[in-house]
Amino acid sequence: MDSRLDGRAIAKSVRTATRNAVESFSAHADPPALAVVLVGDHPASASYVRGKKRAASEVGIQSTVHRRDASISQHELLDLIRTLNADDAVDGILVQLPLPDHIDQYAVIETIDPTKDVDGFHPQNLGRLLIGTPQFVPATPAGIMVLLERALDDLAGARAVVVGRSNIVGKPLAALLMQRDANATVTVCHSRTRDLAAHTKAADIVIAAAGRPNLITADMVSDGVTVIDVGINRVDDDSRERGYRLVGDVDYDAVAPKAHAITPVPGGVGPMTIAMLLRNTLQAAQHRRA
Ligand code: NDP
Repeated sequence: MDSRLDGRAIAKSVRTATRNAVESFSAHADPPALAVVLVGDHPASASYVRGKKRAASEVGIQSTVHRRDASISQHELLDLIRTLNADDAVDGILVQLPLPDHIDQYAVIETIDPTKDVDGFHPQNLGRLLIGTPQFVPATPAGIMVLLERALDDLAGARAVVVGRSNIVGKPLAALLMQRDANATVTVCHSRTRDLAAHTKAADIVIAAAGRPNLITADMVSDGVTVIDVGINRVDDDSRERGYRLVGDVDYDAVAPKAHAITPVPGGVGPMTIAMLLRNTLQAAQHRRA
């Protein structure tokens, strides 16, 4: 049985639903508008922003990229965010991370108007998620929940192990999994966890979001496990023209035969992240202009 969980196909169905909803919305209003702030010339960030812009345009969402030099001061960047907050024509604001070291990322995120915070990283939105009244759910965890819903009939009572405790993936995902509408039993592991394998082996669901290639190997999971691989890691590969390839945190080839379902990298969580961001942007427009 093929256990591959095709994030590209599932993301496409989410984007189609969003495109249809954007079309209805735009029949009587300006299309939803997303402002993307890109600081510096980090190639991966520039490529993510290009991908988001293209995906937005495909579903009818208007997007504008505000590109600034890496030398921008924190003060100038906060001013730009405040300008976008005050601009009624902007529904959603996204600041591409990471930011240069001299800028306090948290100050930037906290300056974004929470009603335009389509990444869902503002403390108000993370707090709302924690108490079970979410407004914007961070895109990667939201996408993972959709993947899990496709893979499993019911998450209630499932033992879910989240490997990674970042504010953008691990923590919000743990909050979503333990909400009353999901009802999983959640364990969060991190770099100080003792005997990671004991946790993953006892799990029905393993979500790997550590950014460590080959962290999860076949001997660390049980038969029938559902595995979501969030990691995106570059490993050297001389057979590729660019000299590297992208892999996740899971040894896919060895784990897949044991798994009920497993996401590949690339083609798993990545496409879902963008699809959920578009959905959040539509939701921002609907909410703000209701
Ligand atoms: P962070 O670096 O912020 O967090 C990594 C987490 O993994 C930390 O909590 C860390 O523990 C934990 N960790 C690291 N090594 C180990 C280990 N050996 N055993 C157990 N836990 C470990 O990363 P992000 O959450 O931002 O991203 C995680 C991965 O997901 C990255 O590869 C990133 O590129 C990818 N990603 C993919 C997205 C997508 O759309 N597909 C979106 C966002 C991220 P500690 O807290 O103790 O340091």
